[in-house]
Amino acid sequence: MIKHHSDMVRRLAKDGDLIAQQLTGHDAHLLHMVVGVSGEAGELLDAVKKVVIYRKPLDIVNVIEELGDLEFYMEGLRQGLGITREQCLAANIGKLEGGKNARYKDGYSDKAAQERADKAAEEPTP
Ligand SMILES: [Mg+2]
Repeated sequence: MIKHHSDMVRRLAKDGDLIAQQLTGHDAHLLHMVVGVSGEAGELLDAVKKVVIYRKPLDIVNVIEELGDLEFYMEGLRQGLGITREQCLAANIGKLEGGKNARYKDGYSDKAAQERADKAAEEPTP
C-alpha cells in the first residue's frame, strides 16, 4: 500500500523543472501572494493556539500585525487578479445573506449550516 502510494505520487506529481520552465512573472506573483496568505494564516492560528491550548493571554498587538500581514497578501492577490476588495465583500455578502444563490436562504443559523444541501453528500473528513 505504501509503495503503491509512493509510486503513484512519483508518477503523478508534476516535474518541478517543468513548472519552473512554464512559470511566468504573473504566476510567480500569484504564488507569492497565496503562499503569504497561507503563512500569515498559520501565524494567526498560532497566536490563537497560545490562548486556547497554552492558556496564555491574547497578544492583540501580534494579532493586529498578523491581520495586517494577511491584508497585505490578500490585496496583492486581488491586484494580481484584477479584482477589488469590494467585489470580494459583495460576493461574500451575497453568498451568506442574500440572493437566489445564497448559501442560507433564511440567513445563517447553526441548523441551516448543518443542513446545507451542498455539504450533505460529503463524507466525514478523517
Ligand atoms: Mg506575520
